[in-house]
Amino acid sequence: MNVEKKGSAVVIGGGAAGLYFSINAARLNPSLNVTILEKTANLLSKVKVSGGGRCNVTHHCFDPETLSKAYPRGHKTLRWSFEQFQAKDTVEWFKERSVELKTESDGRMFPVTDDSQTIVDCFLEEAKKYNVKIRTKTRVDKIEPSQQGFKLHLHKKEPIFCDVVLVATGGYNRESAYEWLKELGHSIVKPVPSLFTFNFRDKIFSELAGISVENAEVHIEGTSFTERGPVLITHWGLSGPAVLKLSAWAARELHDREYRYKIKVNWLYPFKESEVRQKLFELKERNLKKLVTKQDQFPFPSRLWEKFLQLADVDTAKRWAEISNKNIHNLVQVLVHARYDIQGKTTYKEEFVTCGGIPLNEINPDTMESKIVPGLYFSGEVLNIDGITGGFNFQAAWTNSWLAAKAVAGR
Ligand SMILES: Cc1cc2nc3c(=O)[nH]c(=O)nc-3n(C[C@H](O)[C@H](O)[C@H](O)COP(=O)(O)OP(=O)(O)OC[C@H]3O[C@@H](n4cnc5c(N)ncnc54)[C@H](O)[C@@H]3O)c2cc1C
Repeated sequence: MNVEKKGSAVVIGGGAAGLYFSINAARLNPSLNVTILEKTANLLSKVKVSGGGRCNVTHHCFDPETLSKAYPRGHKTLRWSFEQFQAKDTVEWFKERSVELKTESDGRMFPVTDDSQTIVDCFLEEAKKYNVKIRTKTRVDKIEPSQQGFKLHLHKKEPIFCDVVLVATGGYNRESAYEWLKELGHSIVKPVPSLFTFNFRDKIFSELAGISVENAEVHIEGTSFTERGPVLITHWGLSGPAVLKLSAWAARELHDREYRYKIKVNWLYPFKESEVRQKLFELKERNLKKLVTKQDQFPFPSRLWEKFLQLADVDTAKRWAEISNKNIHNLVQVLVHARYDIQGKTTYKEEFVTCGGIPLNEINPDTMESKIVPGLYFSGEVLNIDGITGGFNFQAAWTNSWLAAKAVAGR
């Protein structure tokens, strides 16, 4: 039987949240014995593949209020957590360990090396420096609280005992996978995927894949969800920041509709119907002798403009002089009030995130300790917290783990 020393913390899960907690807890309290149990053969596998292999560590947003608005689930709790540890602290933390981060034009922050291995190496070196013990291929099947602390039942291995446990097991896509945590008295907010692109029922734009429209407005019909920003046309449907944000905010509603719904797109946001009509009439007046395929009024590549003409039933062989009021009306509908049937979703660059998990009202937000089982802590995606794409999911893990580490180190 393997008995950890008094003053021992065991971390279940060797991902971003688990490593960040372990390093900080062991550093803040050198007498604490910290052990990571990871079920697979490797630590930090998601960090390694994250951000397309570059690891989008955090987001250049140093105001707690604004930062918290990037989280469809968890924003209220994180609003206060960020007062204690936010993106600016993450940048400092890495800088103190000689890892410089850089900011891209959209605010995403990456290591200057553009290589996620830099983050992995930093964590592994720090873990070694503070004597964090690591046991890979060790899966925890059950947590049993006792008077002295916890007994952890391991898959095909001897159980271990410890004073404090941090659950940092990430998100699971099946509710049944959370059963061992439910046994502790916790409830689970049903897990559903977040961060995905929308698939069209009819593949209307498939030959235009890769074209991006800089400023569009996308609304999910029958809901209050609307986002604005770049929209990217893909082989199957629509992606880009506006669509990904919508997928995160409406994750649960879209799951409940089995990913069948209608969206409305204004391809010319912020222009309204009357302004677009006006622009089309001006375009006509200025170009009477030119083909309708020629236009310099709207920020669309010619292939996309031709597609809009086809969708509005405008003969592309016509000249502007031949364009009727009805043609203009149809074009306005296609440009400003376009409606599309969505059926299904595609995972965004494999960067899926789980919406759902342990509800935050069962956790003390200052320490990340369970309100149900004293000595049991949670951090990372296992919680009902998730952010939009852009480095926010890692930031939530760093912040939660920082708070938990401080609390555990000071016990
Ligand atoms: C492809 C991809 C790219 C991403 N890119 C980014 C990005 O660039 N920026 C960003 O902010 N977010 C990104 N994300 C999201 C981000 O990776 C996660 O939010 C983050 O990894 C969550 O950290 P975590 O430690 O909670 O969980 P994880 O990183 O998933 O780690 C959990 C660990 O626990 C282990 N585990 C699970 N159950 C047990 C058990 N019973 N016993 C022992 N071990 C167990 C798992 O094997 C795993 O190693 C990306 C996600 C994906 C899938």
